[in-house]
Amino acid sequence: MIYLDNSSTTRQYDQVTDLMADIARNHFGNPSSLHELGFDGSEILRKAASQLGSCFPTGGKVVITSCGTESDNMALMSGTRKLRRRGNKIIITAVEHPAVIQTAMRLREDGWDVAEIGVDKNGVADLDQLRDELDESTVLVSMMTVNNETGAIQPVKDACAMTRAFAEKHGQKILFHTDAVQAFGKIDLRREDFDLISISGHKFHGPKGIGALYIKKGIDIPPFITGGGQERGLRSGTENVPGIAGMGLAAEMSCGELEENNKKLSELNEYLYNGLSTEIKDIRLNGPSVTGTTLDEPGRRCPSVLNISFEGVRGEVILHTLEQDQIFVSTGSACHSNNAGDSHVLTAMGRSHKEIEGAVRYSFSHFNTIQEMDVVIRKTAEAVERFRRLGSFR
Ligand code: PLP
Repeated sequence: MIYLDNSSTTRQYDQVTDLMADIARNHFGNPSSLHELGFDGSEILRKAASQLGSCFPTGGKVVITSCGTESDNMALMSGTRKLRRRGNKIIITAVEHPAVIQTAMRLREDGWDVAEIGVDKNGVADLDQLRDELDESTVLVSMMTVNNETGAIQPVKDACAMTRAFAEKHGQKILFHTDAVQAFGKIDLRREDFDLISISGHKFHGPKGIGALYIKKGIDIPPFITGGGQERGLRSGTENVPGIAGMGLAAEMSCGELEENNKKLSELNEYLYNGLSTEIKDIRLNGPSVTGTTLDEPGRRCPSVLNISFEGVRGEVILHTLEQDQIFVSTGSACHSNNAGDSHVLTAMGRSHKEIEGAVRYSFSHFNTIQEMDVVIRKTAEAVERFRRLGSFR
């Protein structure tokens, strides 16, 4: 099997699986229970909190959620609730994940003004539009760190600084949220100034169904789920102890190996891109051409993603052809691949319907090898050639 769909989900680290099985079997107490087994559970949570906390700026809170989608919902819904008296506008970008876009649309139904800023042809958000949209009614800005379809690193650092400068000048409070679901474990977030950061365990070799929202020190948002008061009252519900421990360990491992993993991802990404460009004519890269791994390099491409349109063939046909050889890739974004219609990200970048239909997303992890890339180049070239000959659009 050659797994190149790591932006959809990653293979869990074996150490994470072993840890979770041990906790489920031997340390199953409810962390709220007063007896020894409950204490055992709360100690496991404490360790995971420390592992997660060390991947974020110091001093903030890390609230556990059920997934990246919930973290985004919490950021926007809880983030705006207390600020309604100060203003009624939020700003997002056109290329956010549906977890942000759909939540913003819900806010719009409730009377919020939602402004959407556009992107350039490489999928990078336009800061001039952000400058134009920031006004005295703005209470929250949400811009993702790395785009899940193209890998484009967004200018979040500058956007956050611009938001801060505007808020300071006008003496108002504007929260800055970033959806770092695709960035966590690849881009170092420890020195950033964001108020709210969303992450999801299964994108960095942790378990599915677990995520977190980092809340900067001094930021006070109301609870998202009310009940027994877990997660310092911000998100009630008995904790998923194995999942939280698994996510904590995966965070420690992936953030600890960040530099060497990024080096490997860059090699794999560039090797595959060069190979495909050499072997196949009429292809178009969707996203920035140069890879980068820090937020000081916005407008580059995170090396975990390579999105290419193959002229004259459908991405879905390539996907299913590669699948026959146990090569797993994605078209558009698999998080919502059940949705009909063109990718909103590639549409915002000005790609034509044909280009969007011909798009394939390869996404890497450090478990991949160069030998695998050789197979993928050969198999993709054979598939493209075959379907171009047959005319797969007809
Ligand atoms: N945000 C981004 C950028 C994503 O890529 C995804 C999933 O792919 C999500 C949010 C949702 O995360 P989850 O699958 O944990 O709900």
